[in-house]
Amino acid sequence: MSPDASHLHELVVRELRAAQAEHDTLRALLADADTLPDLADQADRLQTHNLHLTRYRAVLQRCRDLEKALEALERGDYGTCELCGEDIEPRRLLAVPSTRLCISCQELVEDQASHTALHHQHRLR
Ligand SMILES: [Zn+2]
Repeated sequence: MSPDASHLHELVVRELRAAQAEHDTLRALLADADTLPDLADQADRLQTHNLHLTRYRAVLQRCRDLEKALEALERGDYGTCELCGEDIEPRRLLAVPSTRLCISCQELVEDQASHTALHHQHRLR
């Protein structure tokens, strides 16, 4: 693993703290939405609620990914692609510390995901 491990550790911890803070904020917002008297426009409220819910789920996933990254760092097997077992590009790790895939596997997975989504869209019509 080429990038400095302690630097990456610091980076992951910092990202995890930020994600956890956002997670707490969103959870509070979501809890508020359930208890506040219904003053605002119902459709507006629903839209905001859904937006918060989407962000909440994303940030929850990010917390998990970062926790896993932290575990891997502590085990010493951080920076290895989960799919092909190759080393993940150091620049990629610095940019996205929670990543578990190398760039080629990531592209492959995203490509498949978009194909699957398109496929579903067609089937729904
Ligand atoms: Zn890979």
